[in-house]
Amino acid sequence: MDKILDFVIFTMPNWLRFTLILLLILINYGAEILVKRSVLKVYRETESAEEAMNKLRIYNQYFLMILQIITIVPLEFLVVKYFARFGKPGRIIFMILAPFVFLMIVNVGQLLIINKTYKRIRGTTESLFSQIRDIALTILFILVPVGIIGNISFLIDIINLKSGAMKNIITVAMPIIMIFLFNLILPVFYPKLLKAVNLEDERLSPLLNGLFDQAGIKRPKLYQWPTKEKKLANALVTGLVKPKVFISDYYLENAEPNEIEAIIAHEVGHLKHKHLFKRLLYIVGGLCEVYLVGFLMEWYENYTGKEINTYLGLAIILVPFILYISLGLLRYYRKQEKKADEFALEIGIKPEVMITALLKLARLNHTATKLNKLDEGFQTHPSMARRIKEIEKISGYKYDHNL
Ligand SMILES: [Zn+2]
Repeated sequence: MDKILDFVIFTMPNWLRFTLILLLILINYGAEILVKRSVLKVYRETESAEEAMNKLRIYNQYFLMILQIITIVPLEFLVVKYFARFGKPGRIIFMILAPFVFLMIVNVGQLLIINKTYKRIRGTTESLFSQIRDIALTILFILVPVGIIGNISFLIDIINLKSGAMKNIITVAMPIIMIFLFNLILPVFYPKLLKAVNLEDERLSPLLNGLFDQAGIKRPKLYQWPTKEKKLANALVTGLVKPKVFISDYYLENAEPNEIEAIIAHEVGHLKHKHLFKRLLYIVGGLCEVYLVGFLMEWYENYTGKEINTYLGLAIILVPFILYISLGLLRYYRKQEKKADEFALEIGIKPEVMITALLKLARLNHTATKLNKLDEGFQTHPSMARRIKEIEKISGYKYDHNL
């Protein structure tokens, strides 16, 4: 095993190295071609953009994304040689730059393969440049924090701490501080990243501001961001300290004022219940659990003098953490979504308006309203069908789907 690794990392001839890297890229392209065919087939058979887009989402989430993660591992081994010579600074570049370049080549190529099909089904007109920009930003948002946290041990070496206890404290505290810093700083750039402008609508502004007054929270800044070309209907709230609320102009253009009010009332619910802050606490809780288990295992080894098998140790630490931070976190998100819907009803949004607002959101985005239960477990939001059912349950109102 070590021999193979040694060969892959150091001694493999360059022509073979580049052929293998090319192969890793082509595997991802090939997969996208298969996905495109399948999505087109669904679209031809059903003539439903919702069904075709749901198929595409499922392929993206469970097939293409996983394939990217799987192919990035051998890629890292194949290119590590080129960064090793730069010493520790090389490691930082390596952990961010190499995956970034690879993911850009893969994702932009995949975009070129699926783009025409996607635009035809959804009727979007977004420019290629703007789509590539979005891809680059998304990849950076994932890689930069991973790279920074991965290099914390390197930073600790620079500070050159003598005290072992201090070292441990910094190792524990750094990722937590980074997560909070990231969430404090990022919202400042949100208006620029989204190219958002102040929401100035004489009819809408008083209506929406009234919601914040009613909820007893300070009025946040309201923005609208351009999404007509990509046909994205959405609203979101960011900011731990100074919240900002964003509404996409595609939704503003296509929804009635009372529907927009309902969607924003949901966002007010997130603010009122301090959901953003609680999400961070949830993640920090997971990190603390990892440190605690690691600490206990070390204590066990010192106390009994027995050594825990490395793989077993890793499994004990990582398996619960990964479940907690993936399925657990998603479940927590969905619980918050339900709470936010509940809050919207509490501050006076009529259930029938809430339901039509949600259905309009789904229709504009071409999202399927029903999901199967297993699939739903991997989503940040409950399906529209489930949200509507919950609203009906709370309010006692029965929505007539034939309207
Ligand atoms: Zn929400």
